[in-house]
Amino acid sequence: MVVLTDSCYRVIADFDATLTMFWVNGTRGQTSHGLLQQGNPDYNAKRQQLYEYYHPLEFSPNIGLEEKTKLMEEWWGKAHGLLVEGGLTYDSIRQSVANANIAFREGVCELFEFLEERDAPVLIFSAGLADIIEEVLRQKLHRSFKNVRIVSNRMVFDDDGRLVTFKGKLIHSLNKNEHALDMAAPVHERLGDMDEENQCFLLGDHTGDLGMSDGLNYEPCQISVLLITWNDAPMWGVIKLVSHMCSSGR
Ligand SMILES: [Mg+2]
Repeated sequence: MVVLTDSCYRVIADFDATLTMFWVNGTRGQTSHGLLQQGNPDYNAKRQQLYEYYHPLEFSPNIGLEEKTKLMEEWWGKAHGLLVEGGLTYDSIRQSVANANIAFREGVCELFEFLEERDAPVLIFSAGLADIIEEVLRQKLHRSFKNVRIVSNRMVFDDDGRLVTFKGKLIHSLNKNEHALDMAAPVHERLGDMDEENQCFLLGDHTGDLGMSDGLNYEPCQISVLLITWNDAPMWGVIKLVSHMCSSGR
């Protein structure tokens, strides 16, 4: 039996429908992409048209992975282009989050606090938008966590708070795992590499999330996968499991 110390595990979590609720106030909860309303309604309509065209293709059984990956690059690239062209401001993000139908699962704040107290990092991997996810954390959890890092598409704003470009590699729904290593690098520099006594917990709502640690050098460690479906179960069970593995070994 390997007894784990407090800091030898980390959590990789998907964002939409994993940390957030699938159902909010009786309707489908919004995603970090879906909640965004630009100041210019024409551009909201253009992004909606892209969604209507590409979303069925994303789940089409008749399109191979290679072609689908190209289509997703096209979709995300066009959507990001419209955000820049339409003059998205940070104020619009703040406002969109305030008006959004989005909520965290019960216990997410407590899970982050539990991990923060033990200096255990949380990497939130998302094909959404990092700046929006951070704003959702700020507005809905009313605090920030020093151990939580967002690995997602990152915006660059000018001095007037207007979006000018995106930083780093494009992360879409089908390549989210490929960039994991680069983007999680700062966490690894601080904590050192994983070894066999480390534990990595994956939290996801989709089978595709099981590959979230593929780009990371986590092969030697035992990976625990917690696949949480869209029934909006609270996080208490996750906290209990992490706590149990932390205190009594595996
Ligand atoms: Mg998800």
